[in-house]
Amino acid sequence: MTDRDLINRAVEAAKNAYAPYSKLGMGAALECSDGTVVTGCTVENAALGSTICAEQAAVCAAVALGKRRFRRLAVYSGNSMAYCTPCGTCRQVLSEFSPDVELLCVRSDGRYVSYKLRDLMPNMYSKEHFE
Ligand code: ZN
Repeated sequence: MTDRDLINRAVEAAKNAYAPYSKLGMGAALECSDGTVVTGCTVENAALGSTICAEQAAVCAAVALGKRRFRRLAVYSGNSMAYCTPCGTCRQVLSEFSPDVELLCVRSDGRYVSYKLRDLMPNMYSKEHFE
């Protein structure tokens, strides 16, 4: 699967986002280590702290399928000309399973930049702290 294929899956997921408050509905497409792609979208709530990000929705769906290793994650919003990078909480959630996952951060015009999670989140807090 090419980067563009994965991004297209994120674009499709964003169409289902529920984001009446921020208007920044996002879609995420998570490529698991076995090639399975799992998607998620923003699910906002009137109690804003109860909002679920697209990336977290995708991770939870993947784990429910028994997937715990991830290669790439594409994140997209049709309403932002900024490159959509995962928020701090999503970075932490991703780090639990794949600290070296590649992030494809997409703008509304389809252009994107790529990062390794580890580069956006150096010295991450991890399960190694419990060992
Ligand atoms: Zn987030």
